[in-house]
Amino acid sequence: MNYALVTGGSRGLGAAICRRLASQGLGIIINYRSNESAAREVADDIIASGGTAELLPFDVSSEESVDAALEMWEDSHSGDRITVLVNNAGIREDNLLIFMQTDQWHNVINTTLDGFFFVTRRVLKGMLTKRFGRIINIASLSGLKGLPGQANYSAAKAALIGATKALAQEVAPRKVTVNAVAPGFIKSDMTKDLDEENLKKLVPLGRFGEAEEVAALVGFLASAESSYITGETISINGGLY
Ligand code: NAP
Repeated sequence: MNYALVTGGSRGLGAAICRRLASQGLGIIINYRSNESAAREVADDIIASGGTAELLPFDVSSEESVDAALEMWEDSHSGDRITVLVNNAGIREDNLLIFMQTDQWHNVINTTLDGFFFVTRRVLKGMLTKRFGRIINIASLSGLKGLPGQANYSAAKAALIGATKALAQEVAPRKVTVNAVAPGFIKSDMTKDLDEENLKKLVPLGRFGEAEEVAALVGFLASAESSYITGETISINGGLY
């Protein structure tokens, strides 16, 4: 069976992406760091709808944890392969740079950027061998324009966009595509502490986005139909640039 690995698939955008990719016929590997009950709920929903889903907890920012989990998965899935990777796991630890703690800087960079590197490097080999793959990196509007209070997060997401462009060129000859998605304000646990009533006035479409709207875009990029798009970053932000 062909599988999609979604990092941070237990909640928010990742959970919606898991459900969407399952509806497109992929088996789903739901990665998460600690929230097993939320991940289990996503898996149960997918299985109840006739799909295939399993949990694979690991910390994307730990090389050992990534390699051990994926080796275990491969050992127990000899006829299966991962054809879609969604690098979605991410965190925010906002602070003005003048007050930013070293931990806040490293935690955000390590989760987004080291996470992308460790997981993608591990999964890429199978895609290159089979000459097909879809890698979708969840970046952010913050990585395109920079947002005050988010020097760590903007840097991590901008770097992710750079890595997307570089890797796309490396693997295109093997028919593996690599794209990024840059959401604006989307309703999730990550944005629940924001002042939605005021911030939505900044958005030309007048509202925050839904996780399912991002999932629909990821679903397209994960499909065979997106085969001539690579190295691209697609904004999904209600017109807020
Ligand atoms: P969320 O609701 O806070 O969920 C974050 C997910 O990432 C959870 O599944 C969490 O797992 C997982 N995670 C965090 N650190 C991890 C680690 N070290 N290893 C493995 N999994 C880890 O966030 P979200 O809003 O859905 O955001 C998803 C992605 O979209 C992030 O990359 C975020 O930067 C990006 N994004 C979001 C927005 C927005 O408005 N929401 C806008 C632009 C970009 P646990 O459940 O185990 O904690």
